[in-house]
Amino acid sequence: MRGVEIRVRGQVQGVGFRPFIWRLARARGYLGHVLNDPEGVLIRVLGDVGDFSQTIRAEAPPLARVDAVEVSNYRFATAPDGFEIVASQGKGAETRVTPDAATCPDCLAEIEGDGRRRHYAFTNCTHCGPRFTILNALPYDRAQTTMAPFEMCAACRAEYEDPADRRFHAQPIACPDCGPRVWLEEPTGEIREAANVGEVLKQGGIVAVKGLGGFHLACDATNAEAIEKLRLRKRRPGKPFALMADLETIRHHAEVSKADEELLCDASAPIVVLRKSGLALPDGLAPGQDTLGWMLPYTPLHHLLLREWARGPLVMTSGNLSGEPQVIDNEEARQKLAPFVDAYLMHDRDIARRLDDSVLRSEPRMVLRRARGRVPGTIALPPGFGDAPQILALGGQMKGAICLIKNGQALLSHHLGDLDDALCLDEFHKAIDDYRALFDHRTALVAVDAHPGYRASQAGHAMGLPVTEVCHHHGHLAACLAENGWPADGGPVAGIILDGTGLGDDGTVWGGELLLGDYAGYERVSHLSPVPMVGGDRAAREPWRNALMRLDAAGCAEFSDRQFATFPVAALRSAAKAGVNASMSSSAGRLFDAVAAILGICVASQSYEGEAAMLLEALAQGGAHEAGLPQGADGVIDPSAMVQTLVAGLQEGLPVADLAYAFHDWLATAFASRAKALVLAGKASAVALSGGCFQNALLHRLTVAKLEGIPVLTHRETPANDGGLALGQALIAAVRQNPGIPSYPVSG
Ligand code: ZN
Ligand code: ZN
Ligand code: FE
Repeated sequence: MRGVEIRVRGQVQGVGFRPFIWRLARARGYLGHVLNDPEGVLIRVLGDVGDFSQTIRAEAPPLARVDAVEVSNYRFATAPDGFEIVASQGKGAETRVTPDAATCPDCLAEIEGDGRRRHYAFTNCTHCGPRFTILNALPYDRAQTTMAPFEMCAACRAEYEDPADRRFHAQPIACPDCGPRVWLEEPTGEIREAANVGEVLKQGGIVAVKGLGGFHLACDATNAEAIEKLRLRKRRPGKPFALMADLETIRHHAEVSKADEELLCDASAPIVVLRKSGLALPDGLAPGQDTLGWMLPYTPLHHLLLREWARGPLVMTSGNLSGEPQVIDNEEARQKLAPFVDAYLMHDRDIARRLDDSVLRSEPRMVLRRARGRVPGTIALPPGFGDAPQILALGGQMKGAICLIKNGQALLSHHLGDLDDALCLDEFHKAIDDYRALFDHRTALVAVDAHPGYRASQAGHAMGLPVTEVCHHHGHLAACLAENGWPADGGPVAGIILDGTGLGDDGTVWGGELLLGDYAGYERVSHLSPVPMVGGDRAAREPWRNALMRLDAAGCAEFSDRQFATFPVAALRSAAKAGVNASMSSSAGRLFDAVAAILGICVASQSYEGEAAMLLEALAQGGAHEAGLPQGADGVIDPSAMVQTLVAGLQEGLPVADLAYAFHDWLATAFASRAKALVLAGKASAVALSGGCFQNALLHRLTVAKLEGIPVLTHRETPANDGGLALGQALIAAVRQNPGIPSYPVSG
């Protein structure tokens, strides 16, 4: 009995794919069956199916991602007499878990309607709801999630078992009769109806709200006093707060392009960075910034909070002690968040996994923080990596994230925070175990950063597995190549890597680099001229230190004597001269700090990482768009002439915003012109932009503009900063395992 077998690959499990096929096949009168197996979904149909595979692609359920549909012949032993969903086959079937997804329109309509789920805060279906954040163990099955304690009622069970229902096999299915509940809790322990939260917020109170991947701290975003109180209590003077509101409200306060709207409305419901416009909100939300991070409500609880109880925009910042990971447990919240809050909006569904909100920007498109809604999604590896061994890469230090590769796919973890924090380091170790189990990973090789002081590198060496070390900025270059599908044997590109700090292969600190290379190797073609980074970590926190070194190098010592009269300038100079705790550094991040301090921004210190650079960018966005700072000779990129011109400009009284813009333009020109020359000379076939500085939208746009006519590879789906580093490390390790791949010579 002749028939066809259709193999569907991609994110096709746990998203309502089998019932979708079942409905489609029945509607067409097909005979056969559909099932899950370790490779995805398998469909077998008697006879011919015409355009069925196109229809599968075109009409796939909202959370599905179809990578491939392959059709082959199939022989039925006995004729099927209907079309059925049959039991999963093979070990490892049903192991894929999809990312958490925002409440779908159907569920939202139910919450607002008159049915049994009216105003029910845990409504979900196969097209939406919690996934990764409720998963305790594999396979993904209700008993292995934090929904296990809630026994399904008869009505929910009937939906769960009906292939025609959109809740067929929706593991977190729930209703008011059988599912989790929400309540408002006073710090005294007194329990009230959840709806009273509106009153607490309206009176300027701060509420800990239990969400999908952790607790948020919420307050009225129009209330400057409440915002100030939150900043004081959280000891967070300047770092921008994220906001939550419906789309209409967001439009009152921000510029929302078509692309922004698409990002906001995506099932991953990220925070989207939007330019302020229209009705002003208190400056305390993001002091000195011209943008705000907004997200839409993404759980039924958030919808109820915004539509029914609070109304108006809310601050939604992560509920944690500064530097620590987000709080997820009710008891932990009562203990740790007590000093911050006036009430808790709690519920009794446990959070299995801590996940921050993801942060994105649409123009230029970039994932700034990869977290909830994006993990555990996988990334297809570029051509030539299909046979790569199973590799675990452990990433950097300040923005921990790990990456596993297996079967031609990469799994880049969520943002794990600063590994110098003990609790973040715990999370990091947990994530290694967790993602290895999830991916059924038999790690053959571990890739780490070459910096021996990174916690992640130390953890890698302690695993008792073969380890390969990757130079920090080579890792960034490879990460950008990987996300752009650059083939293993694609040949060298020019990599502009503008970053904070990383250990270079000459033992100095790098970070403003032009590399020529590929996955296999690189050559350091040019870089910013190095200056001493005096005081190690303090140099990163105190911009005046970098300014002093750049000014001295530029022969502007008199200016710094005047400008920094109240700082220990002499001590710093002698430490620099003696080379005491003063590594030489070509870091572009530190150059941003230096220029900010020269222009009077964050001179003494930054209250959060990247503050000086972010304020400099915001200032530059409003400056006159003129270039013209001197570039200097070829070879090493020396900022001295640029610095002298900035100082002269300040003395002439030129607007600081114009100078800030001119600096961005100078930096983009210096690197883009050299990279372009490599391409024009036939040494490279494209330019790759990576490193944390490319999260700066202005620098990114200017650099791309100056490379017009040349293929440019940028980060879109993985962070340009160390949050994406592990992906590059993994592919470099893979190439080193494969002597067949032609390599670019490593320098030095
Ligand atoms: Zn739904
Ligand atoms: Zn129920
Ligand atoms: Fe880096």
